[in-house]
Amino acid sequence: MSEETLSFQTEVAQLLRLMVNSVYSDKEVFLRELISNASDACDKARYLAITEPEILGDDPDFKVRIKVDKEARTLSLSDNGVGMNRDGLISDLGTIARSGTTAFMENMSGDSAKDMQMIGQFGVGFYSLFMVADKVEVTSRQAGEDETWIWTSDGLGEFTIDEAETAGRGTTVLIHLKEGEDEWLEEHRLQAVLKKYSDHIALPITLAIDDGEETAANEASAIWSRPKSEITDEQYAEFYHHVGHAMDDPWLTLHYKAEGKIEYTSLLFVPTRQPLDLFDPARRHAVKLYVRRIFITDEAEGLIPSYLRFLRGIVDSEDLPLNISREMLQNSPLMRHMNQAVTRRVLTELSKKADKQPEEYAEFWENFGSVLKEGLYEDHERRDELLELVRFRSTAGSELVSLKDYVGRMKEGQEAVYYITGDDLQTLETSPQLEGFRARGVEVLLLSDPVDDFWLSSVFEYDGHALTSTTRGATDLSNLGEEPKADDGPEAEPAGETEIATLIALVKQTLGDAIKDVRTTDRLTESAVCLVADDGDMDMRLERMLKAHKQLSTDSVRILEINPKHALIKNMAGAATKGGAADDLADLAHLLLDQARIIEGEALPDPAAFSRRMATVMAKATQ
Ligand code: ADP
Repeated sequence: MSEETLSFQTEVAQLLRLMVNSVYSDKEVFLRELISNASDACDKARYLAITEPEILGDDPDFKVRIKVDKEARTLSLSDNGVGMNRDGLISDLGTIARSGTTAFMENMSGDSAKDMQMIGQFGVGFYSLFMVADKVEVTSRQAGEDETWIWTSDGLGEFTIDEAETAGRGTTVLIHLKEGEDEWLEEHRLQAVLKKYSDHIALPITLAIDDGEETAANEASAIWSRPKSEITDEQYAEFYHHVGHAMDDPWLTLHYKAEGKIEYTSLLFVPTRQPLDLFDPARRHAVKLYVRRIFITDEAEGLIPSYLRFLRGIVDSEDLPLNISREMLQNSPLMRHMNQAVTRRVLTELSKKADKQPEEYAEFWENFGSVLKEGLYEDHERRDELLELVRFRSTAGSELVSLKDYVGRMKEGQEAVYYITGDDLQTLETSPQLEGFRARGVEVLLLSDPVDDFWLSSVFEYDGHALTSTTRGATDLSNLGEEPKADDGPEAEPAGETEIATLIALVKQTLGDAIKDVRTTDRLTESAVCLVADDGDMDMRLERMLKAHKQLSTDSVRILEINPKHALIKNMAGAATKGGAADDLADLAHLLLDQARIIEGEALPDPAAFSRRMATVMAKATQ
């Protein structure tokens, strides 16, 4: 087959233009990306060889060789991993739109150091070598195949592919350095960078300058198999960057070896920042599974629960068979055991952090709290443990609150843990349904995370105290102390009972089916009205959310609560009792309901009618 010229996929071409013209100072990351690819390729071949040992031929020891040719001004990196065939070279290095390509460009901030650090995260790391290269040749032979192929490009829109002379298994990337990039020919510079990016990798990497001897460039032992005392924070961080395709530093590093009936080593990290895929609907975890230092898969379903999917790192089992299939993995009791054990360790560490370093824990909570909360309805066994880790905003101040804190400062006579859910904190804080609680100094938890509605529909109590919504069911706040009197005058007297009863009858009659009931409440102190859900009905916010996601089409009818001490309600009650002005009162009843809907964040079913009634009332007020 003769040479063929192909075009890069459009987004790839755009990304390459950025690389080719880059003025980034942080160019060394290209080596990190190449080493990472070589190491992944060797891991894959090692795993493949378990079932197909013949692919190894006479080259069973995996390694990476880096060679410098000062005169030709080239740098080459060869691995004996799985390699790529013609199709692989074309799709992986050029024409397949990788989801990360546009995502990477969209996320670029213009801060060169940051942008280049994160390139690996988007699965487009290979292209970073065009920061230093004006021509790249990738020669590759896929494990188990005979033909060798060569991919060549200057990064300017096109690449060629051709058959090459037969080479060994794996891939060689030959980099022709750009003018001014001579530092990548210098032994000391290369050694320092290689050490930084490859010391934690269990793959021997050698460096040879011109025709000189090959010298070891890294320690070449899996970092997790070394004793903790011999590993520096920098090495842990580098491994985290490698394994997690991350650029931040780990917020928590958890490295331990479990011995006994089931043996495994775990090196796990909690990121400082949210990884990009955190809210991906697939909710896959990102922890890699190894068996006795051999990479098995990064898709071991069941190894880590979804609600811990922020974890990065590895679990290396001593007991699983090497040639385990995906189906066997899923059903393996050993996997279940490791899942349980790892989960327990992670939750214990989080709990220690929460107790000892609450400020740091608060940072973790901001990033990953909403994910961890999924465990409240998914992992019944650990629900109590998870409830201790959950933090909330509350009406008591800006600090995060635990349920334990809350219960510890409940008011005398208070039985329930009160909460309100809504779309954002600001709206929640000003909710009329909180007025009565606030006036009596009763703390209310403010829950603004969409996931809150889900776990609240399966968690009903904490430590014997019912979790109680302030927007559902009747309230009786009388056992929580008297509502304090305002400083500036005598307490407002409520409207008389008969007057209120007359008003309630009138409002009910006017609003008909639009409401389930009308009643007075001590929930309100400043506002005239609010809507609440009936005891057995769905929480109002959950219903709104389900409707927004088209998972619910029916509307529940709400209860309209009125504040008998409010001037408007008193005036209306008086007018209703006297009789007359029936039209005005009917308009006001509709307006009361619409007002309650607006505060609740609900759409008005008939905005035109609202506006007409409002105009009538305003016209009368300005007569
Ligand atoms: P990522 O490695 O994050 O997927 P890259 O842009 O670095 O993204 O690489 C793209 C793809 O090219 C890889 O996923 C892999 O399939 C293939 N590839 C790159 N380098 C090698 C290599 N040395 N050996 C085998 N395949 C490779």
